[in-house]
Amino acid sequence: MLFLPPWESLLSAVAMLLLGATVGSFLNVVIYRLPLGLSVNDPKRSFCPLCKKAIPMWRNIPLVTWLIQRGRCAECAAPIPFRYFGIELFTALLWVATWWITKDTHALLGVYYAGLATLWLAVSVIDIDHMIIPKELSWFGVGWSLVGSLLIYVYVPVEAQVVFSHALAAPAETSWLWVIGKVILSGAAGWLALWMCVLLGKVMFGRQNFTFDEPVAWSFVEPKDESEELSFRLEEEDNYWSELFFRPKTDKVLISGLSDLKIDGKSLEAEKAEIWHDRVVVGSQTHSIEEMTSISGKLKKVVIPREAMGMGDVDLLGVFGMSLGLLGLLPIVLIACIANIITALIAKVGFGKHTPFGPSLVFGAVVWIVYGAQIFDWYSQFMETVVLVEP
Ligand SMILES: [Zn+2]
Repeated sequence: MLFLPPWESLLSAVAMLLLGATVGSFLNVVIYRLPLGLSVNDPKRSFCPLCKKAIPMWRNIPLVTWLIQRGRCAECAAPIPFRYFGIELFTALLWVATWWITKDTHALLGVYYAGLATLWLAVSVIDIDHMIIPKELSWFGVGWSLVGSLLIYVYVPVEAQVVFSHALAAPAETSWLWVIGKVILSGAAGWLALWMCVLLGKVMFGRQNFTFDEPVAWSFVEPKDESEELSFRLEEEDNYWSELFFRPKTDKVLISGLSDLKIDGKSLEAEKAEIWHDRVVVGSQTHSIEEMTSISGKLKKVVIPREAMGMGDVDLLGVFGMSLGLLGLLPIVLIACIANIITALIAKVGFGKHTPFGPSLVFGAVVWIVYGAQIFDWYSQFMETVVLVEP
């Protein structure tokens, strides 16, 4: 790596800080635009969300601009949320931390893991905001893992690989084809394993089908105050909106055997209806829930979505397989499940909401990278003890 000073020097740390802040600035664009389906490079310049004025290059310096302008737009003085500054700073710190962890190895490993850390930050923030993991991010992870693994195989001595990463190490006598094959197979294994979990989950508790012999009454119950939310009442049982429409873009409640349908007091003739998070679709008519004052009816069959994991999580574990190796997949998923149960418990107590799985997977990956060797040692010792104890 000719363009970088010796990897362990302070100069490298400063270079990582500046590079990280710049990447963080771009990450803000990605986090804002990707989930909305907007292009990340069109328009090229960032713009103020309020006055829509493009921000000139000299006024778009990571970290510095926000501090100088005291968190306000230079044109219209609209406040720029602290979050933008926070993400720039956090990315910069992530890059410096990666330098610190890898400084005894090789610059390529540092840049490789800094890129992965950046990707995981974007995945986590978008998943928390929107409950999705954009495909674009997963594809970036696929490309980064393939190119990164090849470059590491070619330029990083195998001793340096082993020092830091027990997962990546490719024996010196192997060919580049072996490296590519290993990366792709590990990714496929991770993807398939979690995909089967999702399928199994769908069968076990994904969609709930309820069929009744006699028509049962249903209605929407409006929240009494700010702390409550809209619910779908079926046979005296309230199903809250955030639990029904975990993924607002795809989740819907399907009603059939419908009778006695009334919207705003008016009777409607229909056999079927679909309830989405913001609308009710009856035949070719769409009724906005916001404009509705009341809705009720009877039904004989209803399908309610109850999915905890989506394909975005499956893609993410595929990327983990590619970028971190096969060995880490099981511990990552186990740690993620425990972390997710704990956050779900806390969130349920606090807000009564679902928690996204992406950040938990990222947490599992971070624990695996930092403590993977210890976990592995501990596990082998544990197994040895178990084997020794046996008669
Ligand atoms: Zn402005």
